[in-house]
Amino acid sequence: MAIRFENGIVVTLGQENRVIWNGSVVIEGEKIAAVGGSSDLQHRFPKAEAIDCSGKIILPGFICAHHHFYSTMARGMSVPGEPAENFVQILERLWWKVDRAILEEDILLSAQLPLIDCIRNGVTTVIDHHASPSMCDGSLDILESAVRQAGLRASLCYEVSDRNIKGDGIAENERFIKKIGQGDGQIAAMMGLHASFTLSDETIETCVSIAREHSVGCHIHVAEDLADREDALQKYGLPPVERLHRLGATGEKSLFIHCVHVDEREMQILAETQTAVVHNPESNMNNAVGVTPLLKLMQKGVLVGLGTDGMNSDMLAQMRCAYLLHRLANRDPRVAFREAPTLLLENNREIARRQFGVPLGEIAEGYPADLAILDYHPPTPLTEANFLGHLLFGLVDANVDTTVCRGRILMRNKQVLTLDEERIAARSRELAPKMWERLQAL
Ligand SMILES: [Zn+2]
Repeated sequence: MAIRFENGIVVTLGQENRVIWNGSVVIEGEKIAAVGGSSDLQHRFPKAEAIDCSGKIILPGFICAHHHFYSTMARGMSVPGEPAENFVQILERLWWKVDRAILEEDILLSAQLPLIDCIRNGVTTVIDHHASPSMCDGSLDILESAVRQAGLRASLCYEVSDRNIKGDGIAENERFIKKIGQGDGQIAAMMGLHASFTLSDETIETCVSIAREHSVGCHIHVAEDLADREDALQKYGLPPVERLHRLGATGEKSLFIHCVHVDEREMQILAETQTAVVHNPESNMNNAVGVTPLLKLMQKGVLVGLGTDGMNSDMLAQMRCAYLLHRLANRDPRVAFREAPTLLLENNREIARRQFGVPLGEIAEGYPADLAILDYHPPTPLTEANFLGHLLFGLVDANVDTTVCRGRILMRNKQVLTLDEERIAARSRELAPKMWERLQAL
């Protein structure tokens, strides 16, 4: 059954990036069947179900290139001990306890709630990085079932680390990578690694060999804090990117998250190996780790995408944060106007293409039917030429009304259709205090 989303402002993005006032998008099955003027498509697809989008803008669904679903239940929790003074203490006192404290049902609920947030924010594709050492085996299957139920696309991996924890993360990744194989365009798999400073050469080599055997990339935090860089220099005489490159972890399917503390030579390696970097500005500010040299990375030809790092699931907010952060950090009001939207709209699309093997992030005939439809009455003319101004200063605060992924309507009139938020949140409120108690005892 075809559906005609009509009478909206269609912004196709992609190479052509057309803006079509009083436009329509027709979807059929999992694909976009046609894009154009509303009256034209009414004539061509008279039997399609019509959904009125007047007062709305129709965009391709957004992509989040780095998320941590498992962080959900930390919200509102009091962290035991003195406040963390630095990034390593944040990991030791908070995140390395959260991941150990979550059990089977917590993993499911922790994924379902951010998946609902993704739907609410028009995010249709997510690349997640998961850790749950007390329930490692099969944890990626739990995430997969949550993602399939929600109806989104996700690339999943388990965070391998040599810190003293239970669970065989390497085996969990390998099992899941084999299970997913080349993927079905909805679920993809990667080899997940924590970071250089928690991984031996031997562990990284084992992970890289499995990743290569199955043609998947490595998803790893790199030089998020200066401590990661200093550790690599001290122990191995190399900065993290160079170390990881020598161990074979770079490559066009790999994701190096953060890269806050990288030098010129490392940027060169990232560019030459086509390794993608993912920038998470809100998280970097929250952890006070520093500012990613975003403009320099982009000038060097590094593909830089955008993620939330588990802070939330709002990609437009991340984009605005990147825009503001790099203006301030560079003390230059001329920069980041193009770069910040490029991360979200262009570079995340390329990163997703490499992971899922399907062309996302564009409304065009034959493309996957992934849409974000937002309430928006432009207060000034909106054209191809000034779309970015509307995006940065208007659409960032617009409400998402309808979200479509793989041709399935996941939210309509702001009602999430695939998951029962009230029930899931209520159950999470029941289990979170128990998780907090286990965490206090760690
Ligand atoms: Zn992260």
